[in-house]
Amino acid sequence: MSELEVLVELQELDTRLSQLAHRSKTLPEYEQLANLQADDRELQNSFGLIEAELSTLRQSQSDREAEIQQLEDKIAKATSSLYGGDMTSPKDAAALQGEIESLSKRQSILEDQIIELMERIEPYATEETRIEKARIDCQEAVTAIEGKIASALSEVEEERESVVDAKRGAETRAGSDLVRLYEDNRKRMGDHTAVGRLVGTSCGACFLEIAAVEIDRIRRLPSDEPSECPECGALVVR
Ligand SMILES: [Zn+2]
Repeated sequence: MSELEVLVELQELDTRLSQLAHRSKTLPEYEQLANLQADDRELQNSFGLIEAELSTLRQSQSDREAEIQQLEDKIAKATSSLYGGDMTSPKDAAALQGEIESLSKRQSILEDQIIELMERIEPYATEETRIEKARIDCQEAVTAIEGKIASALSEVEEERESVVDAKRGAETRAGSDLVRLYEDNRKRMGDHTAVGRLVGTSCGACFLEIAAVEIDRIRRLPSDEPSECPECGALVVR
């Protein structure tokens, strides 16, 4: 085995590092998370609209309830004056009677309005409950996806660390001169094409046929002396 074989190893390790970096940026869970977050925003918006509507309706209801309470107090007071025995004239009694009737009439109008308000509130309240539940479900799904992302990322990180270790080992075996040559080539040519294994008379990086005279020259070099593909410049491993 050629001393240059370690170059192929380095290139493979770097390819794995790029793949791992790519995987951590493109987890399918990211899209699921974004969809759930969009769903949640939509639910929040609907919830806000419904809450505004409900708050107006509920306020109208409680205003009427408060007014009814006041009316009931007034009616009770007038009734006790009327039947309390301290009524002096029939005219006052008739006036009081009239007041009680008009208070009761107002009360009955308010009660009808409250029933109508409650009927209007009902579908909103049902929707409010539905959205609250949907938001809880959505939050749970978000938490589950975030957990999946965290564990996928820690898996990637674990693998990355082991590849980095392996790369350090390969670099030690390669020696600093060869590593420098490789790194320069990689910067110039990219991750997958910095090194090419000689396959027959073709370069494994560019797949082009290398001229026989060049092949001869390359094959005659000492086994640890690096050479480049005359076509693409990749470090040739023979
Ligand atoms: Zn080549």
